[in-house]
Amino acid sequence: MAPTHVLRCCQRGLAWIPVIFIALVVCWSYYAFVVELCVFTIRNIGEQVIYLIFFHLSFVMFVWSYWKTIFTKPANPSKEFCLPKAEKERYEREERPESQQEILWRVASNLPLYTRTGAGAIRYCDRCQVIKPDRCHHCSACDMCVLKMDHHCPWVNNCVGFSNYKFFILFLAYSLVYCLFIAATVLQYFIKFWTNELNDTGRPQAKFHVLFLFFVAAMFCISILSLFSYHLWLVGKNRSTIEAFRAPVFRTGSDKNGFSLGFRKNIAQVFGDQKKYWLLPVFTSQGDGLTFPTRLVNADAEQATVTLHPDANKCMQDVSVSPLSESHNRLLSSEQHANNTENHLADNPLKSAASETITVSMESES
Ligand SMILES: [Zn+2]
Ligand SMILES: [Zn+2]
Repeated sequence: MAPTHVLRCCQRGLAWIPVIFIALVVCWSYYAFVVELCVFTIRNIGEQVIYLIFFHLSFVMFVWSYWKTIFTKPANPSKEFCLPKAEKERYEREERPESQQEILWRVASNLPLYTRTGAGAIRYCDRCQVIKPDRCHHCSACDMCVLKMDHHCPWVNNCVGFSNYKFFILFLAYSLVYCLFIAATVLQYFIKFWTNELNDTGRPQAKFHVLFLFFVAAMFCISILSLFSYHLWLVGKNRSTIEAFRAPVFRTGSDKNGFSLGFRKNIAQVFGDQKKYWLLPVFTSQGDGLTFPTRLVNADAEQATVTLHPDANKCMQDVSVSPLSESHNRLLSSEQHANNTENHLADNPLKSAASETITVSMESES
């Protein structure tokens, strides 16, 4: 085996350490709560039953959403965003960046693109050799372009993006519920053990487990709460973590609220419009991950892809921009978009079957 291959295998193996750590903590918390607290410490049958029912409810929802966040494959750009063979060969032969950009502009004129690089160029990933759809970014950890990439999360050893963002939010929500429930129910026994009021359980190890259970649950509560509130704020603004760090650049300039459609529609973009599915880790996000409704759609929306060209762009600067709703976005309701969507769904069906620190992998686009 080549040394680079061995190195990559080692890296892939090591990347699972944070996930295994979380899994071990969760398994221990299950044992400590169910066996040491409910079975051996609590004497009241009614209290035992109520605690066990609510505990298992939050435990199942937490494990389900965590599982889906880890094992949902990140969605990648569809074939339409790859350069056709002839253009690709020409692109590789070209040495001048201007000529390469010209090839990209030509191919991009058939694609529904609103955003570009800070310098006004077409966003192209040399590594994946693909024109990046709006909100798509290359993740260096996964070594692929990920649709609506949010961040690469080491605690789930996966990229959080279009395909699993809802699962990630639910994972944060249910881990918070899980930790809050444990902390709230364990508190009274924590105090009793701490003040030596409860030492007749016959199991000296129960004290150790219950004391630690409270500390660990409280610690996770504080760290998850901050991350969860931040992501709820991002969902309300329809902004990814990457976009919060660096505003997307549209043909009218950079606009951090470019994808914001208003609070209710922003929520629906991630959770879908059917409230009964909001709390379940099943895929209900709107769209195909390749195109997104934008807040500001130029009056000449029909020619949106053409106006991306730098020359055409100069003429467009004087044209006023007016906010249009999703339904008025002519580009998105165009036949071409419908075809793209269908093709994408056929080619690339989404397998719809945390932490205090996150890493954000971003590529340079200037
Ligand atoms: Zn890429
Ligand atoms: Zn990644």
